[in-house]
Amino acid sequence: MTERLILVLDEGTTSTRAILYAPDGTRRGVAQRELTQHYPRPGRVEHDADEIWRATLACAVEMVAAAGGADRIAAIGITNQRETVVAWDKRTGEPITRAIVWQDRRTADQCRALVKAGHEPLVQTRTGLVIDPYFSATKMHWILDNIPEARALGDALAFGTIESWLVWKLTGGAHLTDASNASRTQLMALEDRDWDDELCALMGVPRAHLPEIVDMTGDIGRCDRALLGGAIPICGLAGDQQAATIGQGCFAVGDTKATFGTGAFVLTNMGAQLPRSQHRLLGTVLLQLGGKRTYALEGSVFVAGSLVKWLRDQLGWIDRAADTEAIARATPDNGGVYLLPALAGLGAPHWRPDATGAIVGLTLGTTRDQIVRAAMESLAHQCRDLMEAFAADGAAWQSLRIDGGMSANDWMAQDLADMLDLPVERPADVETTALGAAMLAGIGAGLFASLQEAVAMRPATRRFTPALAPTDRDRRLAGWHAMLARHLN
Ligand code: ADP
Repeated sequence: MTERLILVLDEGTTSTRAILYAPDGTRRGVAQRELTQHYPRPGRVEHDADEIWRATLACAVEMVAAAGGADRIAAIGITNQRETVVAWDKRTGEPITRAIVWQDRRTADQCRALVKAGHEPLVQTRTGLVIDPYFSATKMHWILDNIPEARALGDALAFGTIESWLVWKLTGGAHLTDASNASRTQLMALEDRDWDDELCALMGVPRAHLPEIVDMTGDIGRCDRALLGGAIPICGLAGDQQAATIGQGCFAVGDTKATFGTGAFVLTNMGAQLPRSQHRLLGTVLLQLGGKRTYALEGSVFVAGSLVKWLRDQLGWIDRAADTEAIARATPDNGGVYLLPALAGLGAPHWRPDATGAIVGLTLGTTRDQIVRAAMESLAHQCRDLMEAFAADGAAWQSLRIDGGMSANDWMAQDLADMLDLPVERPADVETTALGAAMLAGIGAGLFASLQEAVAMRPATRRFTPALAPTDRDRRLAGWHAMLARHLN
């Protein structure tokens, strides 16, 4: 029998990919398209949803051809940048405005007003999320208030996160979202299976616009034959961070992964226990299979790879992202320089949407390379703060599994091990997000009976062990915390 493959559509913040996997986890092909980032005003970040769809379809078409036709593909899995909101007209399937991206801070005032009115404790207890422009609800409300066509459409207006948008386009009109993506909207209670009327009223988002919430695996929908040459079943959906956690095989309580892409996202498996953070971490749905939920505690850092991109594109200090590795390695220390990477506000555990970046400790002797090194060090510093917040919430890490485009940086992987004083493990293939979506789709298509079976798709890992003297670690952390205290008060 000819082997059947799994097609993953991985819609990231900066690019869209389609990746073909064999059931043993080997990759059989990749197609990729960059996405245009629109920054119309400070604090605003938008994507063109139509461009996302066209790029995704083009990549999928390429991979279906590489596979030898639609009947060679057992299932599609979709994983996506979370929280980003698309608004479209259900009658035409056309977006009515640009997608508002997760990094967008335009609803900071609305969030401040909600906090001031005393709503945060309710929202946090119910959704596991703090009030911040990051989440979808205030973005949806902004569209209703600011795009005249939105209200005019009435019930014909559809809201969805990116997986929802892609499912709509692929199936020709199914309006669905999965539980992991739904848990990021701030409109679903963590323990519930449906939208929460009180949260919808508070956030000003009528549920008529929202998709149906479904499991993360199963027969979720079939592709319109005209698109890919066959009615390929969509069998897996997951937000990118949940997918990466699955792809890292974090199935036991306490297992933790950190994905370093545009931002950095750390998730610890909490099992069936509802995560209730006392330290401004997020509670989120990790898995929903057969209606059964597993939860995770999450720390979201908004700026990681985007800091490297900023060094390259705005400052022009490096030619390629990977240059940061050689520079950090060749620069013996930070020379007392610390960089606060709050280029898109600050996420967990600080949650300061208004914070801006800073570089402190400059002297006449400071070199450009020391600033680059300070930028790279800031990633492990932020991760260390998260580790302490997780431990205080009863989720101590034993090791950290890393992935994402930026984790290819060996210097950063070692610096994380050094600053966390924990072993850091990195899979040979750092595209764990796509792998997790492939595992879910494989389960949904019946190629695997369980997550434990799907884990056979995982590659070998490399381990980085702590090697820094405790005094050096303490000195760096003291410098970092002094800088935070100065800038965040
Ligand atoms: P996303 O899925 O969020 O679009 P990726 O996982 O593709 O992001 O990671 C890309 C990011 O990682 C970019 O922001 C890039 O600057 C950064 N990056 C890639 N390789 C390296 C490297 N070797 N060292 C440091 N940063 C890197």
